[in-house]
Amino acid sequence: MTSETSPRESAVREAVATGIPAALADLGGLVRIPSVAFPGFDHAHVRRSAEAVKALAEGTGVFDSVVVADAAIPGADERGMPAVLARRAARNGRPTILLYAHHDVQPAGDESLWESPPFEPTVREGRLYGRGAADDKAGVMAHIAALRALREAVGDLDLGVALFVEGEEEAGSRSFAQFLSDHADALRADVIVVADSGNWDAVTPALTVSLRGNARFTLRIRTLEHASHSGMFGGAVPDAMMAAVTLLATLWDADGAVAVDGLATRDAGTPDYAEETLRDEAGLPAGVRPVGRDAILSRIWNKPSVTVTGIDAPSVVNASNTLTPEVSVVISARVAPGQSAREAYEALEAHLRAHAPFGAELEFSDVDFGDGFLVDTGGWAVSVAREALRDGYGADPVDLGVGGSIPFIADLVREFPDAQILVTGVEDPHARAHSPNESLHLDTFRHAVLAEALLLARLDDRAA
Ligand SMILES: [Zn+2]
Repeated sequence: MTSETSPRESAVREAVATGIPAALADLGGLVRIPSVAFPGFDHAHVRRSAEAVKALAEGTGVFDSVVVADAAIPGADERGMPAVLARRAARNGRPTILLYAHHDVQPAGDESLWESPPFEPTVREGRLYGRGAADDKAGVMAHIAALRALREAVGDLDLGVALFVEGEEEAGSRSFAQFLSDHADALRADVIVVADSGNWDAVTPALTVSLRGNARFTLRIRTLEHASHSGMFGGAVPDAMMAAVTLLATLWDADGAVAVDGLATRDAGTPDYAEETLRDEAGLPAGVRPVGRDAILSRIWNKPSVTVTGIDAPSVVNASNTLTPEVSVVISARVAPGQSAREAYEALEAHLRAHAPFGAELEFSDVDFGDGFLVDTGGWAVSVAREALRDGYGADPVDLGVGGSIPFIADLVREFPDAQILVTGVEDPHARAHSPNESLHLDTFRHAVLAEALLLARLDDRAA
C-alpha cells in the first residue's frame, strides 16, 4: 500500500530537502565542540554544547520555552551535566511527542587512529566524519531539522512537542531518573522518540523493538579455610579453582547455549544473517564455531547469554603448587527482552547454588540490574512510525532487536508508563560509534530527517 502524497506532505518533503545543507552545517558546528562528559574532561565544553543546542532549539520557532537544566545525582554531591529541555503545548486535541537525543560524546581515544581530526567535521565519500557525527549529534540535528521543515511547511502546529537533549548519556546518565522526575510535567508525552539507535543498513530503516537487559554480579567460591600444599592434600580436598571451573561449566550446554532454568527466551522471528557476516563482524577465526542454536540473530536479540568477564585467582607468574582457597568471578548476563533483570538474576543465583560442587561456599555481591525493553508493536504510534520510515527512506522498515541495553529506556518506561516509545536512529552498521573514524552516512541522515518530519506532520494531523 502506498500513501498518496498530499500537498502538505509535498511541502514537508521540499522543506526537508531545502534544509539539509543548513542542518549539516549546524551538525558540523556541534561536532567541533568536544562535549565529553566523562570525569577528567573539561566539562565547559559540555555546557557550550548545551548552549549551542539551546540556540538551535530556539531557532526552530516551535517552542514556548527552551532551557538548559541539570539535576542532582542521587547519592553524590555533584549535579548531572546540562541538558536542553524545550516544550510547546498541544492544541485542539492533538498528541504530544517527546524527542530525545544526547549532545555529549565518547572521548576521541587515540587520535592517531583517526583519518581526519575527531573534532573537525570532514566529508569523505558520502559520509560526515567526526566524533558525535553519528552518535548522537546527528540525532539532535534530525530532530531540529525535522522541526524546522515542519514549521516552514505547515506553519503553526497543533502538535505538542517536547525536546530533551541529554548531556551525559555516554557517561552513564547518572542524573537521568532524577531529571525525569524533576521535569515530569515538561517531559510528559503520548509518544517518545529516542533517536539513539541504528538502522538495518544505510538504505533500510529500522524501528528498534527490543533490547536485552543485563544482570551482573560478583561470585566468590570458597572451598578451604586457607591455602595448602597441593602435594599434601591434593586429590582429597577440592581447591576453589576446581570448584569454580566445575560450577561455571554448568552454565552452558555442549553447544555453548545457556543451560540455566528460569532464564526466559523471547519467541520472535529475526531477519536472515549469515554466519559469514557474524565471523567477519565479530572477528571469529575460521576454525572456531559460533555458540548457541537457531537463527543467529535470535541468539543475540531474543535469548539470554552468560559471560564470565573477570576472575580473581592467583596469576600465572605467582602460580605455585598450592590449593587455592577461594576464587572470585564476575558474571555478566544478557537477559531476553520481556524478562525482568531481577528475575533473571534470581534464576542464575538459584542455578549456581543448586550446582555448587563439593558443598563449596558461594557468596554473591555487587549485583547490578538493567531491564530490557520490548515495544508493544500493537500501539498506534508504531504503525504511524513504520509508515513514516517507509515513506522517508523509500524502503520498508525492519523491526530491529538489539543485543545490548539502553538502560535509561527502563527509566522512561517507569516514569511514563502510558507513553509509546519509538526507538529510532541515524546510524548504519558502518557508523563506528564510540570508535575512531565515527561517521554519518549522509543519505541516511536525509532519509531520517524526512521520516521524522513526516511522522511529526502526521501526528499534527491526528487526534491524541
Ligand atoms: Zn548514543
